[in-house]
Amino acid sequence: MLEVKNLSKTYEANGRRTEAIDSLSLMVQDKQFVALVGPSGCGKTTFLKIAAGLLEPTSGEVLLDNKKIIGPGQDRGMIFQNFTLFPWLTVRENIGFGATLGKVAQEEKNKIVEHYLHNTGLKEFADFYPKDLSGGMQQRAAIGRTLANNPKVLLMDEPFGSLDAQTRSQMQEFLTKLWESDHKTIVFVTHDVNEAIFLADKVYVLSKRPMKIKKIYDVPFSRPRAHEIKHAPEFFEFVSKIAKDLED
Ligand code: ADP
Repeated sequence: MLEVKNLSKTYEANGRRTEAIDSLSLMVQDKQFVALVGPSGCGKTTFLKIAAGLLEPTSGEVLLDNKKIIGPGQDRGMIFQNFTLFPWLTVRENIGFGATLGKVAQEEKNKIVEHYLHNTGLKEFADFYPKDLSGGMQQRAAIGRTLANNPKVLLMDEPFGSLDAQTRSQMQEFLTKLWESDHKTIVFVTHDVNEAIFLADKVYVLSKRPMKIKKIYDVPFSRPRAHEIKHAPEFFEFVSKIAKDLED
């Protein structure tokens, strides 16, 4: 379980104070898919960086399985908006990177890599370099590489934000399928209400900076989810409700 307790973060740079997060508390259960939806600049990336252990909070804490997060660790994997593959490694080598570092036995490593090449639909492209892949494929490879390290929690920061609309839809479906088979704990940050509802079990609606929780919703749509649900009137109503919460 990921537990956020009274978390606050204020940046101080060039004599300017920016309050990014104000007393945020929330809990993410194991294997839950949670989306945090909020306007740009409200503090979402700041929160994920603290949870990833890349940034220190000003006060409060984040705990994973009752252990305070004080730095990066293999139990958390982060996926950014910009694809972060190593350009000099092939897809196969990128996915196997963590296992190589961790000195996993070759046979076990091959098994892990094959599993994620299959799960990400990139088997045919295993020997391609990132520059020869589309944006969606690069992001799938980055997700595969992170999952191959077997993190408990996946922290995703607007991971589909730079993709065109159609690829973005495909990636959302890819991620739901992956989650429905893999059941990782996922904290997914986005400013796109539609995306948050389609993907998550629980949606936290966030305020403008400094970030606070405005509302919490359980998503009522059953799984497996396919894209068609976005055309259902209930889906549409839910999107409108949250969009209105964001404006208020
Ligand atoms: P979001 O991810 O929701 O777009 P961020 O967490 O990136 O928001 O940023 C929240 C606020 O904190 C913004 O006003 C941003 O300008 C500010 N901020 C982010 N990083 C820094 C930094 N390193 N130093 C000073 N201010 C920062």
